Amino acid sequence: MRLRINSASSGSVFESLIKVELAGPKQITLRTDKRSTTIPRPAANRKKRLWACLVCLGLLTGCAKRPQATVTSGIEDPESSWIRVLLFGNLNECTVYSYGGLMVEDRAMGATAWFPESDQDLTIALHEGRFQIGDHLFNGDLLIRTQTPFVFSINGSVFRGHIRLLRNEEGTSFSAINQVPLESYLCGVIPSEMQSYWEPEALKVQAIAARTYCLYVKNRFGQNRPWDLKRTQAHQVYRGLAAETTTTNEAVFQTEGLVLICPDADGKQTLFPAYYSSSCGGHTENSRFVFGDQVPALEGVSCPYCRKTTRSEYYYWSGLFYSKEEINRRLMERYPSLATLETIDRIEPARQSEGERITLIRLIGKNGNIGFLRGEDFRLALDPSGRKIKSAIFSLRTSPKGYEFVNGRGFGHGVGLCQSGAQGMARLGKTCEEILEYYYPGSRLVRITKTP
Ligand SMILES: [Zn+2]
Repeated sequence: MRLRINSASSGSVFESLIKVELAGPKQITLRTDKRSTTIPRPAANRKKRLWACLVCLGLLTGCAKRPQATVTSGIEDPESSWIRVLLFGNLNECTVYSYGGLMVEDRAMGATAWFPESDQDLTIALHEGRFQIGDHLFNGDLLIRTQTPFVFSINGSVFRGHIRLLRNEEGTSFSAINQVPLESYLCGVIPSEMQSYWEPEALKVQAIAARTYCLYVKNRFGQNRPWDLKRTQAHQVYRGLAAETTTTNEAVFQTEGLVLICPDADGKQTLFPAYYSSSCGGHTENSRFVFGDQVPALEGVSCPYCRKTTRSEYYYWSGLFYSKEEINRRLMERYPSLATLETIDRIEPARQSEGERITLIRLIGKNGNIGFLRGEDFRLALDPSGRKIKSAIFSLRTSPKGYEFVNGRGFGHGVGLCQSGAQGMARLGKTCEEILEYYYPGSRLVRITKTP
């Protein structure tokens, strides 16, 4: 996001110009669309770049373009409606860069320090339990406010919004948390979770599911911790501004504020965890058997729509072998309570759902003791990536040395929205509302209101 003109260290004008040219497309990831705003750089920088470009014209076919950035959407919304995303934990040092400079607030002193824009990243490190930036030492945790267009990079990754740095209790490390308006957060999630060239109606479905899920998690768990969501598959993948595309941003803006609700146990209409997964393999799963929560909109439906839109190796998969020793070791490591079985001697499906997904596995120990695991927990204990044993729809073929996973179908946990199915329905001309009603039956679409 910045032009690094490094002539002082390179010693060669030509070499520095090459660096400008190479840095351009790689680092300027801000997209332009009707919301775009050109961000003027300070005069000194413009001068430097102008000089570089002028010489550049004679030597190269082009030169780096002026960076353009869309202003972060929702920056005027009340911060209580923003999302807090854990970007990094356990840091000792980080580098931060932002257009327009940074306002750093010391939360203990209530004091602020202004760091104007420069071509250099700011290095923020812990020094004897206190944050240090250059010659400045801070007593408390830090809130770093960005300026227009409210974009920053931290350790090379680019995000929208502000940053909060929180020390652990001992003051030996810190976490970096991105505070970002809801809709801008979603702009970094949708292209990380769905192909940006998919049907517009499917992208809108994804935006509404992701918005509902994120607000559910924030309301349910965010009050007890300083962040709402992780940026990984543990919640939903968020790759920030570098992932944004025009089509996925449009899907977010066109569905702004729309979420799904359904009745809770007391019959009250409320947000629910609108889970989604890649390809259900023919039938979505009841959430009760995978995550243990009973939600009327997550009971599972037949899905004839994903077979044609899922890559064949993700829809049908087979032939994975795990030795008895490896299964024993991985399950015992993940679930120490299984030690009561001494050694796992036999594994067999104990319950299968309508879609042939194994929802409960029976483990029989050498000593005759019996243990159970949910099918989803079993497969992720053996393959934490979830990319080899792709779902809990499989058959187990027993051999003296171990087990072969055969007849596998689908990719992911299968609860809620089938993403490939949504694409299949959209291709058939179904609307966003029809697709949501199909995968989250009985749910209602409503618009949230912003409270100050
Ligand atoms: Zn499906």
